[in-house]
Amino acid sequence: MQPDSVRQDLCNYMKDTKALKDFLVTSRKIAIITHANPDADALGSALGLFHFLKEAGHEVYPIVPNSYPKFLDWMPGNQEVIAFEDETAYASNLLANSDLLFCLDFSGFNRVKEMSDAAAGAPAKIALVDHHLNPEIKPDFNFWNDKATATAELVFDLILELSGRGAVSKEIAECLYAGIMTDTGSFKHPNTSSKVHRIVADLIDLGANVNKVSRLIYDTNSLNKLKFLGYSLAEKLQVCEKYQLAYFVITKRDFKKFDLEQGDTEGLVNYALSIKGIVIAAIIIERAGEIKLSFRSVGDYAVNTFAEKYFQGGGHKNAAGGNSGQSLKETEKVFIELIKQNILKTKI
Ligand code: 5GP
Ligand code: MN
Repeated sequence: MQPDSVRQDLCNYMKDTKALKDFLVTSRKIAIITHANPDADALGSALGLFHFLKEAGHEVYPIVPNSYPKFLDWMPGNQEVIAFEDETAYASNLLANSDLLFCLDFSGFNRVKEMSDAAAGAPAKIALVDHHLNPEIKPDFNFWNDKATATAELVFDLILELSGRGAVSKEIAECLYAGIMTDTGSFKHPNTSSKVHRIVADLIDLGANVNKVSRLIYDTNSLNKLKFLGYSLAEKLQVCEKYQLAYFVITKRDFKKFDLEQGDTEGLVNYALSIKGIVIAAIIIERAGEIKLSFRSVGDYAVNTFAEKYFQGGGHKNAAGGNSGQSLKETEKVFIELIKQNILKTKI
């Protein structure tokens, strides 16, 4: 049973449930969209919600801006996902003709990159289900809560509020479990609340196979990816003890050398943060047309405000990202300079 404090919290951010329920009395055409480069929380939430809404009799289309890493292919419903970059005309048409647009795991249309015009211009009503700070989207149905560890947690709450536990199939349970497991860093991040453990216990009771999901997400590395990890740790890791900083700079050449796929750099930044005494970690990646930065921190070092202020990004206090239009070398230089300036001013 959920304690009163949790029930109270639920009442606050689930206040639009009744209105959404009324809207869903009629069979609707629904698009579910996620941020670009979807991760397990974005995709797991989208597919969990997809199964639920489909089962409830709606016409549902999960749409992602671009493709996602292979280690997420196993998710039930994966074959239904439409990548906007590959099927632009079809996806645009769906967005333009939906009754309802679910925005999952992001709260500003700039996060959907090339899909932003089509999504922001869609005439559909908007339901926002997200846990990122400073939401920009003004939804018709709002299920935003920055205290949630994962969007999957919010989707679980929403399904329970709309239809109860009986509506959570094994497929839904496994999609949502994957989102919560990854967004909590396997239940290690500071956001790992007792509520999360209660939800996960529920998801297990509802059929989620913990070992299967964990193996599918974490233990399906390619040999190339592991060799790249070894190379990055041996050759690429920069440590600035003075600033309690460790970071990687990954070039296009590295991608080519190890024949890397999208997603193969995921998790690398955590190795930098695992060094004793390091409180800020970063990875700077050279991508086609942009430089992507990911930041991680421990304690009071708020990397989201850092990412927002200097790299047009955002995220959570201890995990954030952004990008830069400058060259790789220039970006690294600027980054180090900014770290120096900010560290010297106590906390970022
Ligand atoms: P990652 O470093 O794993 O890509 O992202 C870490 C966190 O920061 C995620 O919650 C992600 O949503 C957020 N994030 C990453 N890149 C960006 C960005 O460019 N803009 C914003 N607003 N958030 C980002
Ligand atoms: Mn998330």
